[in-house]
Amino acid sequence: MAHYDVVILGAGPGGYLAAERLAAEKLKVALVEKTDLGGTCLNIGCVPTKTFLNSAKLYAHAREGTAFGVETDGARVNWPRVVAWKDEVVTRLRRALELTLKKGEVEIVRGQGKLTGPHSVAVEHGAAEPVLLDADNLIIATGSSPVIPPIPGAKGNPAVLDSTGMLSLKEIPQRLCVIGGGVIGLEFASLFSSFGSKVTIVEMMDEIVPVMDRQMAMMLRNALKQVTFTLGAKVTSVEGQKVAYEMKNGEKGSVEADVVLMSVGRKANTEGWGAQEIGLEIKNRAVATDARQRTNLPGLWAIGDVTGKSQLAHAAYRMAEVAVADILATRGGERSAQEFVPETVPWALFSLPEAAGVGYTEDEAKARGYDVSVIRTPYGVSGRFIAENGFSSPGSVKIIFEKTGQRILGVHMLGAYASEHIWGAALTLERRLPLSALQNMVFPHPTVSEVIREAAWSAH
Ligand SMILES: Cc1cc2nc3c(=O)[nH]c(=O)nc-3n(C[C@H](O)[C@H](O)[C@H](O)COP(=O)(O)OP(=O)(O)OC[C@H]3O[C@@H](n4cnc5c(N)ncnc54)[C@H](O)[C@@H]3O)c2cc1C
Repeated sequence: MAHYDVVILGAGPGGYLAAERLAAEKLKVALVEKTDLGGTCLNIGCVPTKTFLNSAKLYAHAREGTAFGVETDGARVNWPRVVAWKDEVVTRLRRALELTLKKGEVEIVRGQGKLTGPHSVAVEHGAAEPVLLDADNLIIATGSSPVIPPIPGAKGNPAVLDSTGMLSLKEIPQRLCVIGGGVIGLEFASLFSSFGSKVTIVEMMDEIVPVMDRQMAMMLRNALKQVTFTLGAKVTSVEGQKVAYEMKNGEKGSVEADVVLMSVGRKANTEGWGAQEIGLEIKNRAVATDARQRTNLPGLWAIGDVTGKSQLAHAAYRMAEVAVADILATRGGERSAQEFVPETVPWALFSLPEAAGVGYTEDEAKARGYDVSVIRTPYGVSGRFIAENGFSSPGSVKIIFEKTGQRILGVHMLGAYASEHIWGAALTLERRLPLSALQNMVFPHPTVSEVIREAAWSAH
């Protein structure tokens, strides 16, 4: 049996970053993966969807360039080429990741790993005898999978796809019905509506994207002009290509579509690798961890989507860093001072236009008893934004802060580059800074990020 300092189960963003960092500290590390290195994010999540969305953005620019003095005749989408470019990006990044891991002397073990104890893993690969690994410490990073709810007619229906199925469509659907108005559903809706599909989103709640401030979510809905939103509607069945729903007042309706995307959420992968057998605590259908990513079993940490704390790649990265710091400290007989703080993790929605946020929404801040002030500033105050997007493009930043002391509690943005500059807002939350920190910071000009500074000054 091979012995390692650390064995990691799952090579998504959480697992591979932990492996790189631990190996850089000269620890002997094995990284077990049953499918492709890079996990959901690289292979079937963040990277392929953003590659598609960039093609959609280029197409929009080509069609809308006339107002900016650039005329493109006959712009059209070559879908097989869009898919081929996505595949090329994913394949090259996966190869680069493999090289980085090998160069860092991480041992990659291919196959399905199963914990046989808190310090041992059996890896099955085809018909061969399982490879047995034994380790001082284990990290669980098995990720999450799409939820297919028990809606009559959905399971086994060839028209109903999850996000992975959407990545290898043979053609752009003429009509797409998206069940679920969360981040993943919105990205696909934005993508295919930009490519000309007639898109309808059916959402059970009365607003889309629950993490987003309601006022900003409403603005996002208005900005996605080509998408039809049916809110407060519970899907009752999918018969062939017909999605039937019922509104809160009992009214019934239906949507016909060529493709139905089921995007109602993802569940932590807590089964099939021995969690229950070795007595690992599972809480709210995820592996329970403390702020240092420790589980209830000594020597065993869990990170990323499987913990249920956040379903974002950068949150998995941060959890990996926190767990690595704790493993290193524990080896020296200490406890790490680093903790994972979910409240300051930013999120981004790469629709066209983009949205991003960090911290509380206005409603959440009020519900938590804060005496709240808000400011909202349009992106139109930025010269660069106007130059690149015109006068009628939607864009807005909203800052939620405490009336007394002006500590920033949340920042929510809608508009171009929101995903690129939300990190600055996250820093103010992480450091518990007041609005004056943004007022006194020098921003480069002309940039769209200046709207954050303008918003901060407008509270003055
Ligand atoms: C369509 C889509 C778009 C997304 N876009 C974004 C985005 O833009 N930004 C963002 O931050 N997040 C995005 N996400 C979420 C992001 O992909 C996840 O949060 C992230 O991948 C979680 O990382 P992880 O390491 O926890 O798990 P994963 O990436 O899910 O990796 C887990 C790995 O573990 C392996 N595994 C599981 N069980 C075993 C076992 N028993 N033995 C061996 N291997 C095993 C799996 O095969 C998998 O490779 C998106 C997700 C989807 C589906």
